[in-house]
Amino acid sequence: MTATLFRNGLVFDGHVDEAVPGLEVLVVDGRIEAVEQAPIKEANAQVIDLGGRTLLPGLIDAHVHVFAISLAASKNETVPLTQMTARAVPRIKAMLDRGFTTVRDTGGGDVGIRDAVAQGFIPGPRLFVGGPGISQTGGHGDHRRRTDDRYDIDRNANAFMFVHRIADGVEQMRRVARDELRKGADHIKVMACGGVGSPSDPLETIQFTRDEIAAAVQEARRHGKYVCAHTYTSEAVRHSVEAGVRTVEHANFIDHETAKLVASLDAFVVPTLVCYEVTAEHGVKLGLSPVVMDKLAMVNKAGIAMLDICAGAGTRMGFGTDLMGEMEYAQSYEFTIRGRAQNPADILRSATTVNAEIIQQTGKLGVIRPGALADVIVCEGNPLKDITLLSKPEETLRLIMQGGRLHRNDLGFAA
Ligand SMILES: [Zn+2]
Repeated sequence: MTATLFRNGLVFDGHVDEAVPGLEVLVVDGRIEAVEQAPIKEANAQVIDLGGRTLLPGLIDAHVHVFAISLAASKNETVPLTQMTARAVPRIKAMLDRGFTTVRDTGGGDVGIRDAVAQGFIPGPRLFVGGPGISQTGGHGDHRRRTDDRYDIDRNANAFMFVHRIADGVEQMRRVARDELRKGADHIKVMACGGVGSPSDPLETIQFTRDEIAAAVQEARRHGKYVCAHTYTSEAVRHSVEAGVRTVEHANFIDHETAKLVASLDAFVVPTLVCYEVTAEHGVKLGLSPVVMDKLAMVNKAGIAMLDICAGAGTRMGFGTDLMGEMEYAQSYEFTIRGRAQNPADILRSATTVNAEIIQQTGKLGVIRPGALADVIVCEGNPLKDITLLSKPEETLRLIMQGGRLHRNDLGFAA
């Protein structure tokens, strides 16, 4: 048996509004065994004195792309999967260093890299993956140049390689969804709306028919899984959730009525605000075309208004970042951006318990309660008073534990 006992700190368990003083947390063999007031007695436990710092559930990012090693899609096109994997290794380790003990990949990440992390071959967050995002021809996942007439549904050779896959029509959608589920996908990603990084689809275009999306939803549900959809406009959000999509990503232009519809259907919105702000800053330098920069400016401007709209409609919001390539360093800045419109407890619930529900891990991840996996972080100060503390993880995170294993421990053990 290996046991670790945390004492003398504040505890945010993923649910409550405040970090609670006086709680002790016992971890045994990778799971949280007890969370109690008053001293917990466990003779064999190594004790970690939190010194008044805050213990939180390991953070969850519900929208990343582990294989998007370059911002410009054209640069990813010629990279073989083996090299892509090698280059993803430091990328995902950096996510874990920022306190993200779990991430959901919404396009590209495959079961190979997921399982390599799970089996301990490479350090990184627990991964939940969907394989390539599914796009219609000319949709957000179709990065072919206008002059490129090659078309291959199985490999979609020149379109962002394995990060996207093209399907047209109900039968192809069904087949592609079935194929990704066969390979072990945790969810299915569909592109239901125009996107920023793709050259031939204005932002307001609706992609796929209702029946195409519903086919993916039906196949995912048969496996106990769900579909997430790339969307910006209210029309695209409605189009998606009415077809059974469970999480709508981005949704920058969502209106109140649509946000209420999402809430009434028990679906989630996953905002990814940092990617627009940071990419707008660096895009030209990194080779984004004027078409892409114009689209970026539009979604960035819609900005944080969507947070108020969703909160006002009672829509549950996850926490995502969607940072490509060189932008990935800014992952933790999403906390600061969300803090412009939301209180710290709501933001933290998004990044813990709500995201855990999104990835179908309620009670197992994103929570400090008995029975949960022991993914915890320790932060200097109290992020429930100042959420921006989590935007400086290299300065503020003192301990990162994943499944009971210490990835980082600056606090040492009490004698
Ligand atoms: Zn994305």
